[in-house]
Amino acid sequence: MEKVLTRNVGIEGSRTIEVYRKRGGYETLAKALKMDPDAIIEEVKASGLRGRGGAGFPAGVKWSFMPKEPTPERPNYLVCNADESEPGTFKDRVIIENDPHLLLEGCLCSAFAMRASRVFIYIRGEYTLGAKVLERAIGEAREAGFVGEDILGSGWSCDIVVHRGGGAYICGEETALMTSIEGKRGNPRLKPPFPAQFGVYGYPTTINNVETLSCVPFIIERGASWFASIGTDERNTGPKLYGVSGHVKNPGVFELPMGTELMEIIEEHAGGMLREGKALKAVIPGGSSTPVLRADECRGLRMDFDSVAKAGSMLGSAAIIVMDETTDMVAVMERIAHFYAHESCGQCTPCREGTGWIEKILRRIRRGEGTPEDLDVLDQVAANMQGITVCPLADAAAMPCRSFLEKFRDEFEHYVRHGRSPVAAG
Ligand code: SF4
Repeated sequence: MEKVLTRNVGIEGSRTIEVYRKRGGYETLAKALKMDPDAIIEEVKASGLRGRGGAGFPAGVKWSFMPKEPTPERPNYLVCNADESEPGTFKDRVIIENDPHLLLEGCLCSAFAMRASRVFIYIRGEYTLGAKVLERAIGEAREAGFVGEDILGSGWSCDIVVHRGGGAYICGEETALMTSIEGKRGNPRLKPPFPAQFGVYGYPTTINNVETLSCVPFIIERGASWFASIGTDERNTGPKLYGVSGHVKNPGVFELPMGTELMEIIEEHAGGMLREGKALKAVIPGGSSTPVLRADECRGLRMDFDSVAKAGSMLGSAAIIVMDETTDMVAVMERIAHFYAHESCGQCTPCREGTGWIEKILRRIRRGEGTPEDLDVLDQVAANMQGITVCPLADAAAMPCRSFLEKFRDEFEHYVRHGRSPVAAG
């Protein structure tokens, strides 16, 4: 497949506006500014573009919730979620660090469609280089007249601001992210009200992921039907960035059609299993919060929203974590549990206590002090955390725990009986 989202990656000077413009950059913005904003929203709807951050909500539908007639007293805002903190995920970073102007053009086209006058790019604190690259790119774009007052003489003005987070996972959740932009502790809040009614500083706001926004210039340039022609079906369209890590020879980010088979991604693009003769044992398909899949469940699985859901997991951020037969699954789950216990904001009792209990029980099992009852308690604790908290972090901790237990129960039982893993250290 022709590379679009990563077409500038590896090109010398790809971060500069000069190279970006030489390769056709910002021509789509000029085209978009001559269009009716609602026509852009319809085009994005027709393309089938779904959010690439994890939830997979149709982008055009989300945009259509924004007020059509914002006022200076009550402006519309766009937030680009560049927090990318789900363990295993590093795809947005490739765009931010290599092709920042693509992201800026995507933000500007999208902001224009939503009549937004300000874009906040919320980037995780650890992405120091990314923040610098974006700041510089915004400066170049401002100087060239693509950001600021009366952009390209269209009468539309829009500023872009980079906001660096402090490194908390929970600030990738949209309500926590908005609270963080406002300078407060990044605690999630209940929805409704949804961001399109009450967002940053109380103004109508749409939040989209980096990859989602970077798709928009191509949809405007080439049309919705081009975008929709790529992928599995009309609900799973477009080019997709897959990040592969773990026991593969060639870990990295690969741009492929939405719905590319998981085994093709692992074997052809990521170079196959890292260690010769070691078989695939399991894959986490969409970042650490998504339920794990056994090797037999991976065969023939298309990596799109609906196919992965049908297989009992989620496409999430398409962060594929590959584990071979030497992997100690209890140790992996303990590590994941530690992450969520550490990152819980503590507002909801089931999440605050539950994530801690899961971690403590797993630690006990790993120390060789677990009991057979621990396995049932573990599952019950996780089950009682699901679907009842302010934000999905509790589910993000519970889902992998329950799936690891269900699919690799023999390993957990071996630990309880013998005080150690049944497999050699990976
Ligand atoms: Fe905080 Fe967890 Fe509740 Fe989310 S689910 S608001 S992270 S306590």
